[in-house]
Amino acid sequence: MSRPIRSIIHYAALQHNLRLIQSKAANAKVWAVVKANAYGHGLKHAFEVFRAADGFALLDLQEAQQLREMGWRGPILLLEGIFEARDLEICSRLGIWHTVHNEAQVEMLSAHKTQQGHRIFLKLNAGMNRLGFEPRRFRSVWSRLNAMHQVEEITLMSHFARTELAQDVRESLQIFNDACRDLPGERTLSNSGAILAHQSTIAEEGLSDDWVRPGISLYGASPDAQLQTAQGWGLMPGQSLRSQIIGLQQVSIGDRVGYGSDHVAPENMLIGVVACGYADGYPRAISSNAQVLFEGDVRCNLFGRVSMDMLTINLNPALREGLQPSIGSQVTLWGQSVDGGLLPIDEVAAHAGTIGYELMCAVAPRVLVEQDLEGV
Ligand SMILES: *Cc1c(COP(=O)(O)O)cnc(C)c1O
Repeated sequence: MSRPIRSIIHYAALQHNLRLIQSKAANAKVWAVVKANAYGHGLKHAFEVFRAADGFALLDLQEAQQLREMGWRGPILLLEGIFEARDLEICSRLGIWHTVHNEAQVEMLSAHKTQQGHRIFLKLNAGMNRLGFEPRRFRSVWSRLNAMHQVEEITLMSHFARTELAQDVRESLQIFNDACRDLPGERTLSNSGAILAHQSTIAEEGLSDDWVRPGISLYGASPDAQLQTAQGWGLMPGQSLRSQIIGLQQVSIGDRVGYGSDHVAPENMLIGVVACGYADGYPRAISSNAQVLFEGDVRCNLFGRVSMDMLTINLNPALREGLQPSIGSQVTLWGQSVDGGLLPIDEVAAHAGTIGYELMCAVAPRVLVEQDLEGV
């Protein structure tokens, strides 16, 4: 048998999250953002559920090609656009839409020989200073692209640096409005944070999304866990990381556990060794306040450093609940336990000083993926 660690992909949860986003952005078409192997969920699994969306947005031409091979004939958008001129040939051939955010991409497009006009998403830098043209140059770039025979249609695009506060969203929108007010074409502004929290602010600024671009929310984690939990947004975890106990050690008060011998048992403890380590994508930097779910929903703390292939937990709380831990007992590292317990990925991430996004993308290729079709 293979190591017992599994990433479980919950189809019903992904479906629920997509429907929630569709209802929040009722007048917009939805790009399912599936970059980074669908935030670690696997492109194929994401495709099977999110084919109910209007299009797929990602970074990698190879993944775009895979979607076409899986039979997707609808829109696909490259969020960072092309990286070299020959990417344009693939875009032409496969009908892939692409973001244009820098001068080099404009040049490559103008030199591209094609019969087929491209659908491009022209990106405005609305204050984030990552990708996009600065507001005062935006119109001239738009005009140049609009005059090219290689370009069939231009959608206006920007991205929010912060969606915690309505005021920050408003400032970006004002920059967008100043730069684009009377330019024709569809608009795309909102990521998960803006879809969930700022539809009214966007409307107040006289704007609306023709296309929204949800990523994290589709997978059931929060775009800003400090502002609101995923559960509070009504989202359900699309991924659970689960494993099993593969070793048990009864330690006495004063005994040391794990590498570095820096965890000294403050009481007699039953230590459970879980088949999950940093080589599976579990963060080594996590604090010992982090917890796992034992069996259904008994929370047990980590005790001892996370090593490459294993981590160790204090099973005393399980004993106090009258459970009898054994080799093969179920442990949930994040997501839903078999019995419906919930350990939000955002909570685990916070203990490691990071965000749910990073953990879900970092699940290692050696972790076997299983689909959960219950409730679909
Ligand atoms: C990743 C990405 C998104 C999705 O963001 P979430 O916060 O995961 O919803 C949207 N737009 C662009 C341009 C992105 O790169």
